[in-house]
Amino acid sequence: MAVPTFLHPFARPSKDDFLPIVRGEGALVFDADGREYVDAMASLWYVAAGHGRAEIADAAAHQMRTLASYSCFDPFTTPVADELCERVAASATPVDDPRVFLTSSGSEAVDSAIKIARIAQIQAGHPERTKVISRSFAYHGVTYGGLSAQGLPANQAGFGPLLEGFVNLPNHDLEAVARTLAEAGGTVAAVITEPVQGAGGVRPPAEGYLEGLRRLCDQHGAYLIVDEVICAFGRLGHWFGSERYGIRPDLMTFAKGVTSGYVPLGGVVVGRAVRDALEADPTFWLRHGHTYSGHAAACAAGLANLRILDDEGLLERAHHVGRRLADGLRSLLDDGLVAEVRGDVAVWAVALHPGTDPMAVRDEVLRRGVITRAVGADTLTFCPPLVTTDDQVDRIVDAVAAALPR
Ligand code: PLP
Repeated sequence: MAVPTFLHPFARPSKDDFLPIVRGEGALVFDADGREYVDAMASLWYVAAGHGRAEIADAAAHQMRTLASYSCFDPFTTPVADELCERVAASATPVDDPRVFLTSSGSEAVDSAIKIARIAQIQAGHPERTKVISRSFAYHGVTYGGLSAQGLPANQAGFGPLLEGFVNLPNHDLEAVARTLAEAGGTVAAVITEPVQGAGGVRPPAEGYLEGLRRLCDQHGAYLIVDEVICAFGRLGHWFGSERYGIRPDLMTFAKGVTSGYVPLGGVVVGRAVRDALEADPTFWLRHGHTYSGHAAACAAGLANLRILDDEGLLERAHHVGRRLADGLRSLLDDGLVAEVRGDVAVWAVALHPGTDPMAVRDEVLRRGVITRAVGADTLTFCPPLVTTDDQVDRIVDAVAAALPR
């Protein structure tokens, strides 16, 4: 069979058979033959409100009929972009006096946060502060800023040279961060971290780690960027994961759950310390932005999605879905079927026993009507829509149990 014209993302270019998904409803998706799957990955960590929500489609369509989009570069704005930013800012309680920069993806959000951190340091009188510290197992997207920051070497291989000034440190090692900041002698612009690491295998923060990063950033004049692309908008039972862990970032990135993926949208929440640096000089221009920063239809989809999360109590529901899923996965651990269960609230992973191929298990789970994701050498991840029913959660666990080798 010939390979398809579509050169797929994160796939072998030589692969010729992909599974066509044609329809979705709640936590279910259907393939071209009408087969039903429980979408235990919310597509790619993003369909918080579930598939097939007419309210979101209608809001985007209404906006498209009125004004699909318009540039928000100076001197323009659109009311819907303003409203979306107000709405996101209202939920961004971990950040002081938030303003919101908009992008169309998580990678753009991460690169924007890094660029904003660097230029804010200059505006604050610290042009020497350019370095960025990150940690192993971090995933910060695939454009060069986030790629240079991420801690998954397999994703970086072959794409060098990466950007200068990025230092990746061992996971959860606050002493290494303290040492690096001290040795850098005031040349670090920012430290970047996910709350729960997602694509690196679902790794919750070690006790005190995030608070420690905040403390060290304060001591050394670095901004703390929290990459909330997976964790924001309900995944951890709060609007932002930083709230769950009680930390106060200077910048927070978001994407995915803000629209539940109905239209691509991302952004950066910018806090008071960074704002002061950017806003002090009235002649200063922020020469950064994307054609679709503030895309009107995306913002309309975002507003409709956030209304659903609110009206249906889906942040609270994340705890329920996650607890049932975690209990099920832990029963696999008790039965000796998996080596480890990791996660928090509504994002989980199992580590398989050594020698078990996670791709093979993923395919076996798929055959049983459940979509999960294989990451790294030994991990399967789970991030179900927040509307997943109890029965569907049980189907996820049952499919994994049946697919595991014994
Ligand atoms: N940051 C984090 C924490 C992510 O999980 C992701 C994607 O999974 C990204 C950034 C990149 O987002 P995108 O794929 O939308 O560019």
